[in-house]
Amino acid sequence: MKICIDPGHGGKFPGAVSEDGRHLEKDNTLSIARAIHGKEPNLPGVQLAYTRLEDKHLGDAQLEDLAARVEFANAAGAELFVSIHQNADVQRRGYGAETYYYGIGDHFSVEGEKLAQAVQTALIRNTDLHDRGVKPARFYVLRHTVMPAVLVEAGFIGGDPAEAEFVSHPETIGRIAVGIMMGIAEYLGIRYGPAPVWDPQAEIDLLLKDGIINTPRKPEQVVNWGEFATVLNRIRK
Ligand SMILES: [Zn+2]
Repeated sequence: MKICIDPGHGGKFPGAVSEDGRHLEKDNTLSIARAIHGKEPNLPGVQLAYTRLEDKHLGDAQLEDLAARVEFANAAGAELFVSIHQNADVQRRGYGAETYYYGIGDHFSVEGEKLAQAVQTALIRNTDLHDRGVKPARFYVLRHTVMPAVLVEAGFIGGDPAEAEFVSHPETIGRIAVGIMMGIAEYLGIRYGPAPVWDPQAEIDLLLKDGIINTPRKPEQVVNWGEFATVLNRIRK
Protein backbone atom coordinates (compact mmCIF):
# COMPACT_ATOMS: atom_id res chain seq x y z
CA MET A 1 0.00 0.00 0.00
CA LYS A 2 1.54 3.27 -1.15
CA ILE A 3 0.33 6.59 0.25
CA CYS A 4 1.28 10.06 -0.91
CA ILE A 5 1.89 12.64 1.84
CA ASP A 6 1.69 16.20 0.55
CA PRO A 7 2.90 19.00 2.84
CA GLY A 8 1.08 22.04 1.46
CA HIS A 9 2.86 25.09 -0.02
CA GLY A 10 6.68 25.52 0.24
CA GLY A 11 9.49 27.57 -1.26
CA LYS A 12 8.15 30.87 -2.56
CA PHE A 13 4.59 29.94 -1.48
CA PRO A 14 4.36 30.48 2.29
CA GLY A 15 0.64 29.65 2.58
CA ALA A 16 -1.08 31.19 5.60
CA VAL A 17 0.91 33.36 8.00
CA SER A 18 0.22 33.94 11.69
CA GLU A 19 -0.93 37.43 12.70
CA ASP A 20 2.46 38.26 14.24
CA GLY A 21 4.24 36.97 11.12
CA ARG A 22 6.32 34.48 13.12
CA HIS A 23 4.76 31.28 11.81
CA LEU A 24 4.34 30.19 8.19
CA GLU A 25 2.03 27.41 7.02
CA LYS A 26 4.71 26.01 4.67
CA ASP A 27 7.09 25.48 7.61
CA ASN A 28 4.52 23.78 9.83
CA THR A 29 3.25 21.45 7.09
CA LEU A 30 6.87 20.49 6.34
CA SER A 31 7.53 19.82 10.04
CA ILE A 32 4.43 17.61 10.19
CA ALA A 33 5.55 15.67 7.10
CA ARG A 34 9.05 15.22 8.57
CA ALA A 35 7.55 13.97 11.83
CA ILE A 36 5.52 11.44 9.83
CA HIS A 37 8.69 10.47 7.94
CA GLY A 38 10.48 9.87 11.25
CA LYS A 39 7.77 7.52 12.48
CA GLU A 40 7.23 5.53 9.30
CA PRO A 41 7.87 2.13 10.95
CA ASN A 42 4.68 2.76 12.92
CA LEU A 43 2.68 2.14 9.74
CA PRO A 44 3.81 -1.41 8.94
CA GLY A 45 3.10 -2.51 5.38
CA VAL A 46 2.64 1.06 4.21
CA GLN A 47 5.03 2.81 1.86
CA LEU A 48 4.96 6.60 2.02
CA ALA A 49 5.88 8.93 -0.84
CA TYR A 50 6.30 12.66 -0.11
CA THR A 51 5.72 15.48 -2.56
CA ARG A 52 8.44 17.35 -0.64
CA LEU A 53 10.62 16.89 2.45
CA GLU A 54 12.36 20.24 2.08
CA ASP A 55 11.38 23.89 1.75
CA LYS A 56 10.65 24.10 -1.96
CA HIS A 57 7.80 24.83 -4.34
CA LEU A 58 6.89 22.32 -7.03
CA GLY A 59 5.82 24.81 -9.69
CA ASP A 60 6.49 28.47 -10.44
CA ALA A 61 2.82 29.46 -10.40
CA GLN A 62 0.25 28.36 -7.81
CA LEU A 63 -1.66 26.18 -10.26
CA GLU A 64 1.51 24.57 -11.64
CA ASP A 65 2.56 23.85 -8.08
CA LEU A 66 -0.72 22.07 -7.36
CA ALA A 67 -0.63 20.21 -10.68
CA ALA A 68 2.87 18.94 -9.89
CA ARG A 69 1.63 17.46 -6.59
CA VAL A 70 -1.22 15.69 -8.32
CA GLU A 71 1.08 14.39 -11.09
CA PHE A 72 3.53 13.12 -8.49
CA ALA A 73 0.82 11.16 -6.63
CA ASN A 74 -0.76 9.77 -9.79
CA ALA A 75 2.60 8.78 -11.34
CA ALA A 76 3.78 7.18 -8.08
CA GLY A 77 0.74 4.91 -8.17
CA ALA A 78 -0.29 6.10 -4.70
CA GLU A 79 -3.48 4.48 -3.42
CA LEU A 80 -4.27 7.28 -0.97
CA PHE A 81 -3.42 10.98 -0.97
CA VAL A 82 -3.15 13.10 2.18
CA SER A 83 -2.53 16.83 1.78
CA ILE A 84 -1.50 18.67 4.94
CA HIS A 85 -2.45 22.30 5.57
CA GLN A 86 -3.25 24.80 8.29
CA ASN A 87 -6.15 27.19 8.05
CA ALA A 88 -6.64 30.97 7.96
CA ASP A 89 -9.55 33.39 8.08
CA VAL A 90 -9.68 37.13 7.41
CA GLN A 91 -11.10 38.04 10.84
CA ARG A 92 -8.30 36.04 12.50
CA ARG A 93 -10.68 34.39 14.90
CA GLY A 94 -10.90 30.89 13.41
CA TYR A 95 -9.88 27.84 15.40
CA GLY A 96 -10.15 24.07 15.17
CA ALA A 97 -9.34 21.34 12.67
CA GLU A 98 -11.30 20.11 9.66
CA THR A 99 -10.71 17.54 6.93
CA TYR A 100 -11.92 17.74 3.35
CA TYR A 101 -12.70 15.03 0.79
CA TYR A 102 -13.77 15.35 -2.83
CA GLY A 103 -17.47 16.05 -3.27
CA ILE A 104 -20.13 18.27 -4.79
CA GLY A 105 -23.81 17.76 -4.11
CA ASP A 106 -24.76 14.07 -4.34
CA HIS A 107 -21.52 13.28 -6.12
CA PHE A 108 -18.70 12.55 -3.70
CA SER A 109 -15.89 10.11 -3.01
CA VAL A 110 -17.18 7.47 -0.59
CA GLU A 111 -13.68 6.25 0.26
CA GLY A 112 -12.41 9.82 0.51
CA GLU A 113 -15.11 10.59 3.07
CA LYS A 114 -14.24 7.46 5.07
CA LEU A 115 -10.56 8.38 5.09
CA ALA A 116 -11.40 11.99 6.02
CA GLN A 117 -13.53 10.82 8.94
CA ALA A 118 -10.85 8.45 10.23
CA VAL A 119 -8.11 11.11 9.99
CA GLN A 120 -10.28 13.82 11.52
CA THR A 121 -11.31 11.64 14.48
CA ALA A 122 -7.73 10.58 15.25
CA LEU A 123 -6.43 14.14 14.79
CA ILE A 124 -8.95 15.58 17.26
CA ARG A 125 -8.33 12.78 19.75
CA ASN A 126 -4.57 13.38 19.60
CA THR A 127 -4.50 17.19 19.72
CA ASP A 128 -7.70 18.32 21.49
CA LEU A 129 -8.23 20.85 18.70
CA HIS A 130 -11.86 21.91 18.25
CA ASP A 131 -13.66 19.53 15.87
CA ARG A 132 -14.95 21.38 12.79
CA GLY A 133 -15.85 18.09 11.16
CA VAL A 134 -15.34 16.63 7.68
CA LYS A 135 -16.56 18.47 4.59
CA PRO A 136 -16.81 17.93 0.85
CA ALA A 137 -14.86 20.32 -1.36
CA ARG A 138 -13.56 20.65 -4.90
CA PHE A 139 -10.00 21.73 -4.13
CA TYR A 140 -7.63 21.12 -7.03
CA VAL A 141 -5.69 18.30 -5.37
CA LEU A 142 -8.91 16.50 -4.40
CA ARG A 143 -10.45 16.93 -7.85
CA HIS A 144 -7.50 15.76 -9.94
CA THR A 145 -5.98 12.93 -7.91
CA VAL A 146 -7.14 9.50 -9.08
CA MET A 147 -7.08 7.86 -5.64
CA PRO A 148 -9.13 8.59 -2.48
CA ALA A 149 -7.77 11.92 -1.27
CA VAL A 150 -8.15 14.16 1.75
CA LEU A 151 -6.97 17.64 2.66
CA VAL A 152 -6.37 18.15 6.36
CA GLU A 153 -6.55 21.64 7.86
CA ALA A 154 -4.71 20.91 11.10
CA GLY A 155 -5.83 23.94 13.07
CA PHE A 156 -5.61 27.68 12.29
CA ILE A 157 -2.24 29.33 11.79
CA GLY A 158 -3.76 32.46 10.28
CA GLY A 159 -6.70 32.66 12.69
CA ASP A 160 -6.95 32.88 16.46
CA PRO A 161 -3.43 34.00 17.62
CA ALA A 162 -3.38 31.60 20.58
CA GLU A 163 -4.16 28.68 18.29
CA ALA A 164 -1.46 29.85 15.84
CA GLU A 165 1.07 29.47 18.67
CA PHE A 166 -0.37 26.12 19.72
CA VAL A 167 -0.36 24.53 16.25
CA SER A 168 3.20 25.76 15.59
CA HIS A 169 4.60 24.27 18.79
CA PRO A 170 6.89 21.25 18.19
CA GLU A 171 4.89 19.07 20.57
CA THR A 172 1.62 19.83 18.77
CA ILE A 173 3.32 19.27 15.39
CA GLY A 174 4.29 15.78 16.64
CA ARG A 175 0.75 15.11 17.85
CA ILE A 176 -0.74 16.21 14.54
CA ALA A 177 1.63 13.85 12.70
CA VAL A 178 0.70 10.91 14.90
CA GLY A 179 -3.00 11.79 14.62
CA ILE A 180 -2.81 11.73 10.82
CA MET A 181 -0.92 8.41 10.87
CA MET A 182 -3.38 6.87 13.33
CA GLY A 183 -6.26 7.96 11.11
CA ILE A 184 -4.63 6.31 8.09
CA ALA A 185 -4.05 3.13 10.12
CA GLU A 186 -7.67 3.19 11.27
CA TYR A 187 -8.91 3.57 7.69
CA LEU A 188 -6.67 0.70 6.49
CA GLY A 189 -7.65 -1.50 9.44
CA ILE A 190 -4.04 -1.94 10.53
CA ARG A 191 -2.50 -1.51 13.95
CA TYR A 192 -0.56 1.70 14.54
CA GLY A 193 2.86 0.87 16.02
CA PRO A 194 6.14 -0.72 14.99
CA ALA A 195 5.87 -4.02 13.14
CA PRO A 196 6.50 -6.95 15.49
CA VAL A 197 10.00 -8.38 15.12
CA TRP A 198 10.12 -12.00 13.97
CA ASP A 199 12.25 -14.05 16.34
CA PRO A 200 12.16 -17.78 15.35
CA GLN A 201 14.19 -18.97 18.36
CA ALA A 202 11.89 -17.13 20.77
CA GLU A 203 8.89 -18.86 19.14
CA ILE A 204 10.51 -22.29 19.64
CA ASP A 205 11.43 -21.45 23.23
CA LEU A 206 7.80 -20.52 23.89
CA LEU A 207 6.66 -23.97 22.69
CA LEU A 208 9.24 -25.53 24.99
CA LYS A 209 8.13 -23.45 27.97
CA ASP A 210 4.48 -24.35 27.40
CA GLY A 211 5.25 -28.08 27.00
CA ILE A 212 4.20 -28.37 23.32
CA ILE A 213 7.72 -29.68 22.63
CA ASN A 214 10.07 -31.33 25.16
CA THR A 215 13.48 -30.84 23.56
CA PRO A 216 15.24 -27.54 22.74
CA ARG A 217 15.46 -27.03 18.96
CA LYS A 218 17.20 -24.63 16.57
CA PRO A 219 15.17 -22.75 13.90
CA GLU A 220 17.10 -24.38 11.04
CA GLN A 221 16.50 -27.99 12.26
CA VAL A 222 14.11 -30.13 10.21
CA VAL A 223 10.97 -31.71 11.71
CA ASN A 224 9.98 -35.37 11.04
CA TRP A 225 6.41 -36.65 10.86
CA GLY A 226 6.59 -38.25 14.31
CA GLU A 227 7.45 -34.89 15.90
CA PHE A 228 4.96 -32.97 13.78
CA ALA A 229 2.09 -35.39 14.64
CA THR A 230 3.00 -35.22 18.34
CA VAL A 231 2.88 -31.42 18.34
CA LEU A 232 -0.46 -31.39 16.46
CA ASN A 233 -1.97 -33.88 18.91
CA ARG A 234 -0.72 -31.88 21.88
CA ILE A 235 -2.34 -28.67 20.66
CA ARG A 236 -5.57 -30.62 19.88
CA LYS A 237 -5.97 -31.55 23.55
ZN1 LIG B 1 -2.80 25.63 2.81
